[in-house]
Amino acid sequence: MELPSQYNPKETEDKIYQLWQESGFFNPDNLPSRHKKPFCIIMPPTNANGNLHAGHALVMTIEDIMTRYKRMQGYKALWLPGLDHAGFETQVVYEKKLEKEGRSRFKMTPQELYKEIYDFTETNKANIESQVKKMGASCDWSRKKFTLDQDVIDTVYSTFEKFKKDGLVYRGKKIINWCPKHQTSLSDLETKDDERTDKFYYLKYGPFTIATARPETKFGDKYVVMHPKDKRYSQYKEGQKIDLEWINGPITATVIKDEAIDMDFGTGVMTITPWHDPVDFEIAQRHNLDKEQIIDFQGRLLPIAGEFAGMKIAEARPKIIEKLQTKGLVEKIDENYKHVVKVCYKCNSLIEPQIKEQWFLKMKPLAEPAIKAIKKGDVKFVPSHYKKIALHWLNNILDWPLSRQIVWGIPIPGDESGDTFDTWFSSGQWPYAALGYPKSKDFKTFYPTDVMETGGDLIFFWVSRMIMFGLYNTGKVPFKYVYMHGLVLDSKGQKMSKSKGNVINPLDLTEKFGTDALRMALVVGNTPGTSLPLDENKIKGYRNFANKIWNASRFILMQEEKRQATKNDKKLLKEFEKISKDIAKDMDNFRFYSAAEKIYHYFWHTFCDKIIEDYKKGEVGYDAIFEILTKSLRVLHPFMPFITEHIYQQLPIDKKQKSIMVEAWPK
Ligand SMILES: [Zn+2]
Repeated sequence: MELPSQYNPKETEDKIYQLWQESGFFNPDNLPSRHKKPFCIIMPPTNANGNLHAGHALVMTIEDIMTRYKRMQGYKALWLPGLDHAGFETQVVYEKKLEKEGRSRFKMTPQELYKEIYDFTETNKANIESQVKKMGASCDWSRKKFTLDQDVIDTVYSTFEKFKKDGLVYRGKKIINWCPKHQTSLSDLETKDDERTDKFYYLKYGPFTIATARPETKFGDKYVVMHPKDKRYSQYKEGQKIDLEWINGPITATVIKDEAIDMDFGTGVMTITPWHDPVDFEIAQRHNLDKEQIIDFQGRLLPIAGEFAGMKIAEARPKIIEKLQTKGLVEKIDENYKHVVKVCYKCNSLIEPQIKEQWFLKMKPLAEPAIKAIKKGDVKFVPSHYKKIALHWLNNILDWPLSRQIVWGIPIPGDESGDTFDTWFSSGQWPYAALGYPKSKDFKTFYPTDVMETGGDLIFFWVSRMIMFGLYNTGKVPFKYVYMHGLVLDSKGQKMSKSKGNVINPLDLTEKFGTDALRMALVVGNTPGTSLPLDENKIKGYRNFANKIWNASRFILMQEEKRQATKNDKKLLKEFEKISKDIAKDMDNFRFYSAAEKIYHYFWHTFCDKIIEDYKKGEVGYDAIFEILTKSLRVLHPFMPFITEHIYQQLPIDKKQKSIMVEAWPK
């Protein structure tokens, strides 16, 4: 038996993947009969709006390692792949594309836009699927799901109906985060805090001084609010009317006392703009005050602004201040006011709070069972500190605005304005929807799933919501473990971004070094929850390791005169048994970084450097090195599936199994 002198991943990998697909073993129904106990991972649905990035490569590697390991351990392993329409995320990507082409979504009918984005995602879906295959993912393509598949939509709708029946969704005219660029409302999670330095204006408001960074919202301010315990203003009584001169002429202000006012901030007196500020909105709700819109949804001033109507904020602000100065209403201007503002997490536009009629989901009743389940340990987090983070968020949860004013998504049934659901409303139902809840055999077999593996940044957006939805709909948690991986960084430890130009394309790396080498580089040293710098030198190191495996196998398979057994053999096999057990323990406890490193060191420094050398000296028998080789290949398989399969196929053994994939983990 002779292997070619060099291992060529480029030539081999696609053929091996094809062999796996033909074996049918990605589908748990086709596994040999020893595979009984179900094991299931639902793949986080990849956004169908671009290509596979380094983060995806990590997801595919870790989840594939888990699946292949469990399969070898005799589990009926299902890894169910999927893609996400990713609502706002995808529409943002597509709008950027339109912008580049000099087009705008606002000049298209919703139907035209939907059709174009649909075609765009169809193309991406095919790309992504082939890229996932490149990573060696042993997921069951016959069960793949898309979040816009009709059965998924049906599940989403019936959940919505159930929420309605239980009084958990309601339509409310409440204050929401509005992105004037993207023309949609956003949840709190879809906004970012941005520290800015702005001017801070102290304005004369009758007998008071009010301070504001946003004079353009002040046109409609007819309520002046102070803390009921503030002695400085004790002469003013609740409901008292005060006539005063304001930006566009005389107005009558009403005194309101409310404990939300911070006595130490500014002068301790403020006027309120309930339409454009969440705190002011709450005050207005408590005192049943009028709410007036000052800025429209495009970010322009409305007729209430008088001569400034129709202007954008940036243009209007200095002009308004100029007018206030002429009227002697500006007391002073602080030039260096540092404050935190909310911006759209996609375009960094300043969020303009607006009152809008929307669908909201009451979250407190959903959070309670989730909190209980997490505390009880029905869902466990790896690393464990995520438990505290999840509980903190769930304990402080607010109602969730579900409506988005974008076309790309699942339409909200019966919504007159044509709104779609926040994409996380459907992906939050992913584990049971993807398994064909409620009636399918898969749902009965594989739910609750075993592990949800995803990025730590999705703990609120996605993981917590899946737990809440799962418990609400099925009465069970959707998964027993949550494994949180960290970010993949560039070689200098910096976050990859297009603008920095340091984005690493994982497909370039598999092309250059082979997928197995990339997978090893992604997993060794990568403890859960921490970020991982990806260095080409590290990948090169594992390419060398692949060559080492190849050369050792080649040497062993080329031995014509096979040495007799020696007295050392038993001890060596025993030692291997110990290593294999130890690695299995790591695997069972999500320490893949450690498992991978152990087999790497064993194979290179013990097996190649010592045992094979001792064989050459006549101190080890052939059967022993052959057995250690084949068992090592099995332990290596979850990490380096291609080369191990390739060598397995050349082994002169009676292959009852068609693939190393279904060989048993060595004991
Ligand atoms: Zn935006």
